[in-house]
Amino acid sequence: MHINGIMFQYFEWFLQDDGSLWKKLKDDAQHLKEIGVTSVWLPPPTKGTGSNDVGYGAYDLYDLGEFDQKGTVRTKYGTKQELHEAIDALHEIGIAVYADVVINHKGGGDELQTFTVVEVNPDDRNEIISEPFEIESYTSFTFPGRDNKYSDFKWSWEHFSATDYNHRDPKDAIYVIEGENKGVDPEDRSVGQQFGNFDFLLYNDIDFKHPDVREELKRWISWFIKETGIDGFRLDAIKHISDWFIKEFIEHVRGEFGDQYYIVGEYSYYDDMDMDPFLQNVEHRIDLFDVALHYHFRICSLDGPGYDMSTIFDDTIVAKYPQLAVTYVNNHDSHLHDDDLYVLDWFKPLAYALILLRKDGYPCIFFGDYYGIEGPDAREGQQWIIDQLLDIRRDFAYGDQEDYFDHESIVGWIRRGDENNPDGCVVVMSNDEAGEKRIFVGTDYAGSAWYDKLGHIEDDIIVEEDGHANFPVNEGSVSVYLKRV
Ligand code: CA
Repeated sequence: MHINGIMFQYFEWFLQDDGSLWKKLKDDAQHLKEIGVTSVWLPPPTKGTGSNDVGYGAYDLYDLGEFDQKGTVRTKYGTKQELHEAIDALHEIGIAVYADVVINHKGGGDELQTFTVVEVNPDDRNEIISEPFEIESYTSFTFPGRDNKYSDFKWSWEHFSATDYNHRDPKDAIYVIEGENKGVDPEDRSVGQQFGNFDFLLYNDIDFKHPDVREELKRWISWFIKETGIDGFRLDAIKHISDWFIKEFIEHVRGEFGDQYYIVGEYSYYDDMDMDPFLQNVEHRIDLFDVALHYHFRICSLDGPGYDMSTIFDDTIVAKYPQLAVTYVNNHDSHLHDDDLYVLDWFKPLAYALILLRKDGYPCIFFGDYYGIEGPDAREGQQWIIDQLLDIRRDFAYGDQEDYFDHESIVGWIRRGDENNPDGCVVVMSNDEAGEKRIFVGTDYAGSAWYDKLGHIEDDIIVEEDGHANFPVNEGSVSVYLKRV
């Protein structure tokens, strides 16, 4: 369903807590259609720990901005009614809607409970550093504001595997919960293996080994899909979720909503990560955000000329699993911390050309790159350049692709076009000084003139008798050449 699709991540971390996003999205639907967007990724529409929660502090998955809970009826993005209106507006013009789904953990519990834990070493969660002892923590979720509507399931400590809060001793620590079929398991390979076992991320970590949990989460996703009419979802934090449950969850959803139901996962890692075992365990049935390519963009944007552009696609998801890759430049997480993963502004035109004008990958445009980022480290959006690249993608980026990733700083490729768009386009970029790339356009094109649609290079390029031409590019820049008609 995403052949030549374009996803748009319609949020960034530092949006104002004013409940206006669903209205903004509804009003923006027609514009998104015009620039070629085929799907929109919504932030978690579920109630978090407060109205200012970005959505990843999942409190009540059945509260889409409907109930007075955590001090607010609306979520950060608006009311349930406004959510419905935004989804309807997108559906009316044929844009698919994907929602962010947070099932790894729950925050904002309603009542304290007392239960037995062991403390583990945060750097090696298989190492127990205490005797079993009792803690008090907010693991009881009764959802008083919802009063059993949609589900009467109440979460309790037995439904969680670990937590980071002890009411009797509010220090930083990770507590693994003890009990039947619970506790530290050094043999567990179903989650990321960083820190020994990366099951726990934050808040109260959901225990998928508990049968009532699995049943409730499957019941919830069925309700959620029917209630919202969403066409797919992004599964948050899958590195921290047992892969056998991800497989079970996917099978449940596709069994009910069809084999093509769209699911993409966020498996965050940096480099040297082998995704084969995970993908085998989930039978290659989930798309993945191309974290490796994003990381390469980040390093190149930092290092500039020091980065070898010929390696930018090495070991990326899009190179290894082109059918499963969602390629992106930045996302809501990219600019949160000092050691952040933000792809710097100068490199964004190059990075967006690398995801929008190539054959493989399902590209995702980040709200913050397009409209800008608010908050302490505000940035301007780059709507103009992204719009230009989207126009080129729509009209010219078709057909066979020949790569010229044969130089450490100046790389390029040609798209040869197809029946409906016969001339294709030539892309050349440099992360270092200005230069040119000699590219074979075709002897049929001898004498034809090509111009830089992005306007960086002023002179036309004339294809030589042998079908080649030297396509120039400026320092730290990208040019996209189209045939003059
Ligand atoms: Ca977990």
